[in-house]
Amino acid sequence: MKIYLDTIGCRLNQSEIETMARQFRAAGHEIVAVPDSADMAVVNTCAVTSNAAADSRGVIRRIARAGVEEIVATGCWTTLQPRRALDLPGVRRVVTNDSKDHLVEDILDLPIYDLEPLTRVPLPGLHRRTRAFIKVQDGCENHCTFCITTVARGEGRSRTIADVILDIRSALEGGAKEIVLTGVHLGSWGYDFDSHLTELIKAILRETDVPRLRLSSLEPWDLSDGFFSLWDNKRLMPHLHLPLQSGCESTLRRMARKTTPDSFRALVSAARTAIPDVAITTDIIAGFPGETEDEFAESLDFVREMNFAGGHVFTYSPRPGTGAARMKGQVKPELRKKRNHVLRDALEESARSYRRKFIGRKMSVLWESTSEMGEWGWKMEGLTGNYLRVNAFAPSPRWNEIDRVALEDVEDDRMKGVILNKG
Ligand code: SF4
Repeated sequence: MKIYLDTIGCRLNQSEIETMARQFRAAGHEIVAVPDSADMAVVNTCAVTSNAAADSRGVIRRIARAGVEEIVATGCWTTLQPRRALDLPGVRRVVTNDSKDHLVEDILDLPIYDLEPLTRVPLPGLHRRTRAFIKVQDGCENHCTFCITTVARGEGRSRTIADVILDIRSALEGGAKEIVLTGVHLGSWGYDFDSHLTELIKAILRETDVPRLRLSSLEPWDLSDGFFSLWDNKRLMPHLHLPLQSGCESTLRRMARKTTPDSFRALVSAARTAIPDVAITTDIIAGFPGETEDEFAESLDFVREMNFAGGHVFTYSPRPGTGAARMKGQVKPELRKKRNHVLRDALEESARSYRRKFIGRKMSVLWESTSEMGEWGWKMEGLTGNYLRVNAFAPSPRWNEIDRVALEDVEDDRMKGVILNKG
């Protein structure tokens, strides 16, 4: 069969769709880059915001219009709204998150447990990536009041070190130069068998030759003392994505977040002391229910004080089924948007000053995309270990190569670089 795979939302969804691609290929099926020629399609949907849910439905409708008669809908939006998913054109099957790990087996009605050492091959088309996202954990025990993911993904559960290492080895065999560990609540890996993420990272660095290991989002309260000594190993990328969500203590309490501005400040300071050049990025919600002008001002001041290297600002989106959606004092949509812009400007300002610190430095860059530029040769775009986006020119394409680059200047939201030699 020709199978088209598509995903919306987080890196975990991306990682799951990549695993499905490997499983379908292992069973002898072809993964196609566009739906037009597909016999079947699988769509991994998202529900984190109302926009993401709408995008998920839009992708399914687009695939149906392309003529695919058998669409399988899975993922968070499908798990929360299975009937509505089944009503969409072309959808013949819905697979909720609790059954997603064996979706391919169930569809093909055959066991596919003998995967290794099947090499990971980047998905064709839009989702072709140099970095491999490896799922190490699913679900979450926390109940942040704005979060629908914990509702859609269920309880926290960790994959074993052996399974994770197997996936990493097949990704490296497939040519990946960077591994990104991902999960719903990555920092809770191992809690279900009395271990900690530290042990997983140590095992990966010991048992594989991964050149670049990166961690995706980490909840600030999971990071134990000594965690930052892991970065003595230079194969661990100096980038920490720590969702703050709000810089105001009373708002954090209404969000049921297990952190405070004081504990967050102490954590960031410890990270900056232990890890040279570390990029600390974050997520912030603008216009959370009950957020007064004073609370917003307190949050903005704290965001400025933290001097983040970048991040995302989400306009609060009430998700049916969450505690926050039922809270009094919902902030007017236009005011949420206005606060979003103010926070974005503050984050962009600190990101700019973070980038400027690296003018004149030499750093390793993994090239993620190439575009031909005629007499200029090839324009490369890639990421340093501390998540600086870099552009440079090369006489030949260097997709998925790691080079040593002199960072000459800042150009909008990225660095202008000159390739020195192989990284
Ligand atoms: S820790 Fe993250 S995934 Fe868990 S409930 Fe909070 S925001 Fe959601």
